[in-house]
Amino acid sequence: MALIVQKYGGTSVGSVERIQAVAEKVKAAKDRGNQVVVVVSAMSGQTNRLIALAHEINAEGDPREMDVLISTGEQVTIALLSMALQRIGCPARSYTGGQVHILTDSAHSKARIQDIDGARVQADLEAGRVVVVAGFQGVDQQGDITTLGRGGSDTTAVAMAAALKADECQIYTDVDGVYTTDPRIEPKARRLERITFEEMLEMASLGSKVLQIRAVEFAGKYNVPLRVLSSFEEGEGTLITFEEESMEQAKISGIAFNRDEAKLTILGVPDHPGVAYQILGPISDANIEVDMIVQNIAADTSTTDFTFTVHRNDYKKALGILQATAESLGAREALGDDTMVKISIVGVGMRSHAGIASQMFEALSSEGININMISTSEIKISVVVDEKYLELGVRTLHEAFSLDSEAAN
Ligand code: ADP
Ligand code: ASP
Ligand code: MG
Repeated sequence: MALIVQKYGGTSVGSVERIQAVAEKVKAAKDRGNQVVVVVSAMSGQTNRLIALAHEINAEGDPREMDVLISTGEQVTIALLSMALQRIGCPARSYTGGQVHILTDSAHSKARIQDIDGARVQADLEAGRVVVVAGFQGVDQQGDITTLGRGGSDTTAVAMAAALKADECQIYTDVDGVYTTDPRIEPKARRLERITFEEMLEMASLGSKVLQIRAVEFAGKYNVPLRVLSSFEEGEGTLITFEEESMEQAKISGIAFNRDEAKLTILGVPDHPGVAYQILGPISDANIEVDMIVQNIAADTSTTDFTFTVHRNDYKKALGILQATAESLGAREALGDDTMVKISIVGVGMRSHAGIASQMFEALSSEGININMISTSEIKISVVVDEKYLELGVRTLHEAFSLDSEAAN
């Protein structure tokens, strides 16, 4: 008998009809002789609605109360799904994160799971019940409700699968697998049969929200077999695998993008040791995360220009800090632009193929797309470009690296 953890995202449980359809899928898996744990998200749009309500009352809502609020969406769907299962003759029980002891740290809105006590779930499974667990939420040592960050139900599912030593963790969503890029941007995107954990981790951290980053991290660390599939149609989906020697590697596996970049530049800073720290220290003290960094020595070598990117939400705050720094360091000017995006190509095949970067830059230049910043690692190359080039950039690269569906066939 296999133990399977299935996770259904917001669209998959977005209406009564959808919840009933999910119940049928869960029952079918159980009828095939499996033990089944189901993790569900809130109905689509619900988490956003709750956040908007809170903002109407207080834009800077208390993090503890925010988590009490936004964790409620999942409590609705666990109860409804359990009822739908019972209705079709499938014994089921719902549990909130706290009830199955999903213990997290106290970092509200981005808590990390520390431990799960699987005993209660195990007892239900042995009694022949389907267990339905609320995604996205846990409790800290004090018993306060926490949430795991947007998209966090993926992480709940993988963590449950790890704790229960499940045979597979299946992430059911509104696309039938992981694609070469977001099919909403490039209709020619192609479903991947497999993708390595390393690549999936890069794709997720570079903006592909099909899986939450922490879910991929967790699955890699605890060896959880992970598959992304459609809740709307049958199919094999995409298996997330460890790299095998024998695997024929394409140069590039996928393209990720992130619409939330903002760029800040300080010009004409007197150059001396410690200047990078003087510029970025106050930014990090304000809890603003910096992504890419570029430093240029000016022609006269006595001053430097320094550019970095932050999340758009932090743009105004970061610019204010940088302007103050510019004044105190005697720099010429601090300026910024919050209409930037980042496009990245990802692939373990990059390790064994030279010239990928120049191929990328050539493709972008052939479309007149100006690159503002570049960063590379062993298996990815990212560029920051103006947001008006997002679609064109993604599609151009998709074609340049032969990722289009026709090219593969
Ligand atoms: P869920 O609510 O089921 O968790 P999400 O909206 O979080 O679903 O994730 C699924 C969405 O991820 C898809 O609808 C798709 O637009 C987007 N997406 C982004 N990048 C990719 C990719 N490389 N492959 C597949 N889907 C992607
Ligand atoms: N409901 C949460 C969100 O919208 C968690 C999830 O869907 O995974 O982010
Ligand atoms: Mg999601």
